[in-house]
Amino acid sequence: MSTKESEKPKFEPKIKEKRWNHQFEHDIFESWQKERLYRLKLSKGKRPFVIDTPPPYPSGTWHIGAVAQYSQIDMIARTSRMQGAQVLFPIGIDRNGLPVEIYTESLYKVKMRETPREEFIELCKKALDELESKMLDTMKRIGLSGDYEAKYRTDDPSYRKFTQSSFIELWKRGLIYEASRPNNFCHDCGTTIADAEVEYKELPTRLTHVNFKVKETGENLVIATTRPELICSCQLVIVNPTDSRYTEVQGKHAVLPIYGREVEIRPHPSAQQDFGSGVVMICSYGDYADVLLFRELGLSEIIATGQDGRLTKEAGPYQGLTFADARDKIIEDLKAQSLLVKIERIKHRTPVCSRSGTPIEIIPMKEYYLKQLDFLPKLKELANKITFYPNVNRQILLDWLNSIMIDWPISRRRVYATEIPVWYCMMCGQSVIPRGGEYYRPWKDPAPVAQCSNCGSTEFEGDPRTFDTWMDSSISTLFISKYKRDKRFFKHAYPATIRPQGKDIVRTWLHYSILRCYQLTGRAPFTHAWIAGLGMDEQGQAMHKSKGNVVDPLPILEKFGADSFRFWSASEATHGSDFRCSELRIAGAHKFLTKLWNLSRFISFFPYARSTSLMASDRWILSELAKLIERSMVGYHEFDFFIPANEIRDFVWETFASHYLEMVKPRAYGQGFTKSQQRAAWYTLHTVLKTILVLLAPLIPYMTDYVWRQLYSNHTVHIESFPKPAWPRTYSKYTEQMLTFNKEVWKIKEDRNLALRDSLEMDVPKSLSPFKADLVKMHSLIPKA
Ligand SMILES: [Zn+2]
Ligand SMILES: [Zn+2]
Repeated sequence: MSTKESEKPKFEPKIKEKRWNHQFEHDIFESWQKERLYRLKLSKGKRPFVIDTPPPYPSGTWHIGAVAQYSQIDMIARTSRMQGAQVLFPIGIDRNGLPVEIYTESLYKVKMRETPREEFIELCKKALDELESKMLDTMKRIGLSGDYEAKYRTDDPSYRKFTQSSFIELWKRGLIYEASRPNNFCHDCGTTIADAEVEYKELPTRLTHVNFKVKETGENLVIATTRPELICSCQLVIVNPTDSRYTEVQGKHAVLPIYGREVEIRPHPSAQQDFGSGVVMICSYGDYADVLLFRELGLSEIIATGQDGRLTKEAGPYQGLTFADARDKIIEDLKAQSLLVKIERIKHRTPVCSRSGTPIEIIPMKEYYLKQLDFLPKLKELANKITFYPNVNRQILLDWLNSIMIDWPISRRRVYATEIPVWYCMMCGQSVIPRGGEYYRPWKDPAPVAQCSNCGSTEFEGDPRTFDTWMDSSISTLFISKYKRDKRFFKHAYPATIRPQGKDIVRTWLHYSILRCYQLTGRAPFTHAWIAGLGMDEQGQAMHKSKGNVVDPLPILEKFGADSFRFWSASEATHGSDFRCSELRIAGAHKFLTKLWNLSRFISFFPYARSTSLMASDRWILSELAKLIERSMVGYHEFDFFIPANEIRDFVWETFASHYLEMVKPRAYGQGFTKSQQRAAWYTLHTVLKTILVLLAPLIPYMTDYVWRQLYSNHTVHIESFPKPAWPRTYSKYTEQMLTFNKEVWKIKEDRNLALRDSLEMDVPKSLSPFKADLVKMHSLIPKA
């Protein structure tokens, strides 16, 4: 041991714990709550940065992809605070609608339609309270810096009243009407659903080839159909005008098997020659193409499909059977009458309900509609004005707007949702709309008037239906900005600054929000939309219970802590693209936190010092640090946390720890350097660490705050501003050479079986001469003779 080393002063780390214990995260969160760090403190006249937080829907285990998305929404809030904004980050819970009804049925083993309404509502509430409290625990666990004290719920009477008032307002302006039209109907959910909630799946089905007779010639005409049970509702047979096989039959009549009724055979371009026989029967309604043809050709509908999922009297001998049973039965009958040509097994693109997965039927029903077709040009204009992160995801909205063909059906035949505030006169049927400003439950409350203004009757009946849940959540922006409740606040808080959400709900939440808020205020609800990708499994496949690939976030948070989870979510994929979820990837993020902890603890051995005489190595790492700040801020400005996460990780790991730290270790310990040179190393080490902590604070709020308070301040890191790249970039011109030289030395030592500490006869290249002192010490170089 050299004399110098034995004289070295004793260094003690200020950070005592050898390892980061993520159990600290609980206490740190508590301290944030106590310090009321995240309450909106609005300065007079200043516009807040308003985040229209998606109110999550509690309906079982929270999807790991959603938890990752909320972690990133929190990063938006923290980023904005560090840029000097006063941030309104509300916490809401969406508690209306179908999924919770389905969850309640299975949890309490009850059937909604067989349970008294009041009782079922209570059960839903109970189920929701439990799910919500778990959900809030998870939000707090991941460090979500929202305003929990001002939490809102979409099933609260104050919120439902808000939804109902908005309906009444639009009703008075003539934007709502009731109409009977063919509508998507899900028999499992027992309700109409909007196009936005219809998905398409390739399902196996039977394509039945059936012989029809041509009336005029007595010839057979083969028609292939997946819905033979709907033959009774056929009003037309079409062939493609260019299909030479069927030129002769155009204008003649087809006789329906079983029923004997005659329908016309017409040429129409929508008949596909290569599907089945090329001859198509048009029924009311097998699919949406049928709806379009009935409308286009003015055919009168025959409704064979009942709301109860069974065939109506129009189906004759099949009345009362379920559609599937009727299909089996009619195939049997066709076979018995020798009218069945063949059955093909095919995969058919089938519309299904996005909630229950059930194939949907198209059934004409009387529903309330909110006008949206008239607003499409305006909505496209607004969509083009909103700033999208990433910009490419604007197209999802535009594509959807371009495909909308009907107004939005907003009434649902469900129970746990906001009630439609309408009563009907039992004598003349006139509708009675209340004045608004209260929460109405027409299924149990008396009508708001004593007498019908039309016929004088005193008997009324409340509408038993509820709204589509998007009617509530689509005005979240108005609710959080206190529309019609606080004029001054609304003026500052609306439009909101940013709408963060997943790309899976662009057609619903994003679209409906812009539509509804525009109708009510004449303005778009927000100026920026942040559209996240979706969480997939390790192979990039969607997670489903049935596939057994669902990753539960809670045990992972328990094992690795929130910071590791958050850092994984930020560093996994560029903003807007889908990302893969697996424990292995989160463990990878955890390694970076371990590295950062070790680094912080090492630096905590040395006192924080000021220095005016930096050495070249110090100036070099500060150069690199300035570049890092600039590159990270590009990501922060766009709320793309992938950029800072990966830039900082690379810098910390590949440059700061591997090179600079090794270069200045001897100097920091004072081995062979002056006091002033030693202080320069201390100053630089701490300056880099301080900067990295602040730069990482939005991504990993717990560890950065812990280290910050241990080393640098009595206050939280979360009141700091982002660092400015205040150092000259001149020394970065040495970076490549320096890294190459160090790697070269390490390689030589490795090849010669030398330890890193062992001395080596080698000169520092001339181009790196400003760094000579540090490099010689770092590698124990002995100048060549
Ligand atoms: Zn359904
Ligand atoms: Zn009346």
